[in-house]
Amino acid sequence: MSNQRSESLFERALKLIPGGVNSPVRAFRSVGGSPFFVKAAHGAYLTTADDTDLIDFVCTWGPAIHGHNHPIIKAAIAEALEKGTSFGTPNPLEVDMAELITRFVPSIKKVRMCSSGTEATMSAVRLARGFTKRDKIIKFSGCYHGHSDSLLIKAGSGALTHGHPDSAGIPASFARETIVLPYNDTACVDQAFAAYPDQIAGVIVEPYIGNVGFIKAKPGFLKHLSTVTTKHGALLIFDEVMTGFRLAKGGVQELEAITPDLTTLGKIIGGGLPVGAFGGRADVMDYLAPLGPVYQAGTLSGNPLALSAGIASLKLLESLNPYGRLNALGEQLSKAALTAAKTKGIALQAPQCGSMFSIFFSATEVTDYATALAADAVPYKKLFHSCLDNGVYLAPSAYEAGFLSTAHEGTAIDKACEVVSKAIISL
Ligand SMILES: *Cc1c(COP(=O)(O)O)cnc(C)c1O
Repeated sequence: MSNQRSESLFERALKLIPGGVNSPVRAFRSVGGSPFFVKAAHGAYLTTADDTDLIDFVCTWGPAIHGHNHPIIKAAIAEALEKGTSFGTPNPLEVDMAELITRFVPSIKKVRMCSSGTEATMSAVRLARGFTKRDKIIKFSGCYHGHSDSLLIKAGSGALTHGHPDSAGIPASFARETIVLPYNDTACVDQAFAAYPDQIAGVIVEPYIGNVGFIKAKPGFLKHLSTVTTKHGALLIFDEVMTGFRLAKGGVQELEAITPDLTTLGKIIGGGLPVGAFGGRADVMDYLAPLGPVYQAGTLSGNPLALSAGIASLKLLESLNPYGRLNALGEQLSKAALTAAKTKGIALQAPQCGSMFSIFFSATEVTDYATALAADAVPYKKLFHSCLDNGVYLAPSAYEAGFLSTAHEGTAIDKACEVVSKAIISL
C-alpha cells in the first residue's frame, strides 16, 4: 500500500500535534509503522489519503454500527443543520432522545446528556459519591472508563491496596480513593467491601470488557456485583459506552438481566458525532443540579446536531433490529480466524459476542487483564500489517476489540475472512 500522502501529512502533524495524533492509539505505537490518514468513509470502508480502500473493523471505535456515513443519519444531520447548530437552551430533540434512551434501557428512568463518554463516567462517579456521601470507587483492571482522574488508575501491588495513577499528573491522593480489582473475581470484590466498610460509593464496570480486547463476564459475576452493592448501600455503575446499543438494544444489562443503578453511554448514541449520556434511578439522578447538590453542566450538552445523528442511529436500530445479523457476521469472522489457526497449529482465542470480537494469540482462555496481557502481541502485529497490506484494517493494538457494522454484510465480510485466514496461515 502506497502511503506517501499519509506519511507527509503525518510529518506535518508531528510538528504541531503531540505525537501527531489527537488520541494516542491512533499513532500505531502498539503495532509499529506510521498511521494512515482517512479522507472519507462509507459503509464498511475507509478511504485513505492515498486512495486506498480498507475494510474497517474499528468502526470509529464503536459508533458506526450502521457503517460509515449512513444516508439516513446523514439526512437527519442535514435537516438539523438547517435549523441551527447550537441554542444554549432546552431543545425538542433532548426530550425525544431521553424518551428513546429510557425505552431502550429500562433501568434508566432519568438521563442527562453530555458530550463524551469520559464526561459521562466522570459525572456518574461524582454523582455516586454525592448520593452515597462516600468517597471510594471500585473499578476493574483492563476496564477503561475514559480519562478522568478518578478512573485513570491502575492496580496497586496487592489486590486490596489502593490504586496508583495510570498517568502522570494524577495526584496519588486521588488514586487512593479508587480500588482496582481483577475482573471476573467475586472474592476480591467481597474482600474490598469488607476492608472498607461504609466507604465505597460505587462499583464501575464495563459489563463486558471492550478495552483490553473483548472479554465477557463469567456467569454470575455481574449478578454478584449487583447483590453486593445493594447489600452495602453502594451504587452499581455499568459503563456501557461501548456495549450500549451494540450488543443488544438495551446493552449487556439486557443480555444479562441486571438492573444497574446508573449506566453510562456514548459512542453509538452520537451516531458518529460527539455525545455521551448517563442515567439511571430517578432518586439518584435527582441529586444532580439544578435539583440536587451534585454539579454537572455542559455548554454543548444536548447539542441538536449531535442528537439528531444519535436519534437517527437509535431509530435505525429499532426498525432494523440488526442484532441477529451482526452476530452472524461476528461468528463468521471469529470462525475464520479459529479455523486458520487450527490449520496452522497456532494457539488462538477468538472471543466474540454480536458485533464485537478479539483475536488473542494465547493458549488459555482470556478472562481478565492478566490473561489478556499474557497473550502474545508479536504475531498480532504481523497479522495487523499483513491484513492492512491486503485491504483490511484491524484494531491497531493487540489489546483493542474489533467492531462490525451492518454494512459489512456480503462482500466485505467474505473478503475480510479470506484476508484474515491467509494472514494467520502465513504467520
Ligand atoms: C470509549 C469509552 C469511554 C470514553 O469515551 P470517550 O467518548 O472516548 O470519552 C468510556 N468508557 C468506555 C467503556 C469506552 O469504551
